[in-house]
Amino acid sequence: MNTTTRAKIISGIELSEVMRAEIAGHAAAFKEQTGVTPGLAVVLVGDDPASEVYVRMKGKAADKAGFYSQQITLPGSTSEAHLLGVIDGLNSDPRIHGILVQLPLPDHINKERILSAISVGKDVDGFHPENAGRLAIGDRDVLAPATPAGIIQMLLRNGYDPRGKHAVVVGRSTIVGKPVALLLLQDGPGGNATVTIAHSRTPNLAEITRQADILIAAVGRPQMIKRDMVKPGAVVIDVGTNRVNDPGSAKGYKLVGDVAFDEVSEVAAAISPSPGGVGPMTITMLLANTLKAAQNLTR
Ligand code: NDP
Repeated sequence: MNTTTRAKIISGIELSEVMRAEIAGHAAAFKEQTGVTPGLAVVLVGDDPASEVYVRMKGKAADKAGFYSQQITLPGSTSEAHLLGVIDGLNSDPRIHGILVQLPLPDHINKERILSAISVGKDVDGFHPENAGRLAIGDRDVLAPATPAGIIQMLLRNGYDPRGKHAVVVGRSTIVGKPVALLLLQDGPGGNATVTIAHSRTPNLAEITRQADILIAAVGRPQMIKRDMVKPGAVVIDVGTNRVNDPGSAKGYKLVGDVAFDEVSEVAAAISPSPGGVGPMTITMLLANTLKAAQNLTR
């Protein structure tokens, strides 16, 4: 094994720049043809600092793509009934084609009830049970969750077609692990992989991850995927975004992924960094979904 070879970096920042320019172009053409500007509403309940940052970034990205964007910030004490009323208003607002409720929600609000209240056609996060079900039955036109859809684009546009490959997904959450596994399994572009899903009760995890041609880590455990868990030549996508103490930095913490980047990049053929990988692509695919929703709703 040649240990001096370093993996190719799959940059979500660079791909996002390219894709956001494409989306802005498509949005401008769509506006020209129909007179309709794609519109995104992002709803934030409470004042979680990380959520505030995400919401701001989503609004800015929408503005930059030429979309109409609306940010609705509600106090943490907002009742479920009030939030349902806000969603109802957005469902019937013709300027809005995409609705995103930033998670997590305060404990007194039932997340499932809120996500189910979003109009299926405006559900740009793809978390409505009907969209989740459509994804599971293989509907390729579904509004797929943004993070998983971004991962597929990162693979395809870097020349790593999952077709015929063994993809191992570590993590089975509803927002990342399960939907990315379903996308990889779909009979169509970006799919047709043989998929294994691992989770916290999977014994001998390393034995399974070492079989992966494509390894996707969506665990939420800092740098848990080590070099000896990765097959030489594998393509590794790191979804994890974890805060770890960093007394040397001004903030006192830094962000790291679920993959031990330095050591794994010595064996992998390609690897996405975190930060700078899946994160920006999530916002990019949110824009793509909003444009798609606007096109569907304007037909
Ligand atoms: P969840 O906590 O919902 O799910 C984590 C999954 O990892 C679970 O299925 C869990 O298994 C599994 N797991 C936990 N420990 C182990 C272990 N030791 N071995 C194997 N599997 C394990 O997290 P999310 O899916 O929401 O997020 C995962 C990571 O991705 C987080 O770091 C999050 O911050 C990041 N993320 C990044 C996004 C982005 O845009 N960049 C978007 C969304 C998430 P079990 O089900 O058995 O508990």
